[in-house]
Amino acid sequence: MRVQLLPSSCGLPDSGPQFLSTYLVGESLAIDGGSIGFQADLDLQRRVRHVFVTHAHFDHVASLPFLVENTYIRGPDCVELLASKNTLAALQSDVFNGRMWPDFIAISTPADRYLTTTVLEPFATVERADCRITPVPVSHGADTLAMIVDDGHACVAFAADTGPTDVLWQHLADRPNVRAVFLECSFPQSLADLAAHCGHLTPATLAEQVSRLASGVRTFVVHRKAAHAATIAAEIAAAHLPRVELAAPGRIYDF
Ligand SMILES: [Zn+2]
Ligand SMILES: [Zn+2]
Repeated sequence: MRVQLLPSSCGLPDSGPQFLSTYLVGESLAIDGGSIGFQADLDLQRRVRHVFVTHAHFDHVASLPFLVENTYIRGPDCVELLASKNTLAALQSDVFNGRMWPDFIAISTPADRYLTTTVLEPFATVERADCRITPVPVSHGADTLAMIVDDGHACVAFAADTGPTDVLWQHLADRPNVRAVFLECSFPQSLADLAAHCGHLTPATLAEQVSRLASGVRTFVVHRKAAHAATIAAEIAAAHLPRVELAAPGRIYDF
């Protein structure tokens, strides 16, 4: 399975800090819509046919209006958004609402579609692009779903935004082919109270969560808030966590 955390910042020669979240899985499947619609490579955008949206927070949906605009061709084929019922409702009422952006959901017809939506139910596996994707609720306070992606060879978990959680680790324990988890660490230890309030991890709670994983599973740390990214990196390094590394936006990972 080929996974790339897409870059989401401009103006630096390298990939820079992570402001937004989109993972590309293979070529046609994406997890979250934070940055997919901002990628300069329009062919990359056009190849994405299914976007699994973990939750409605801006950093995970910001580029969806542009993805729809950039990939629209007249006819029945269009990009598919898959998310919880509440997340889809938020996207239609707060983004595709005829004010912030055209209501592409309402004006789509079977013969001419801008986007289509599919409701995800917790733990109900769906199949897209030769992968089986299972949504699992996590602890983020915004109806948030982690996505477990299994291509028959490797299983990779995208934990979304979450505070400490049990259900995801219990679910992964039953799967023998888990290769990696992309796990957030949003705040440094000094902001542990804010992290707890908002449903995010700090290096200390990250370490506790990682200890729940089977040996051999790699953890890639994502979603470091840009203002604190260096501090978070230093705190994680000081903890000497085995099999834990910082995910680099733009780098391609093969599992
Ligand atoms: Zn969030
Ligand atoms: Zn987020």
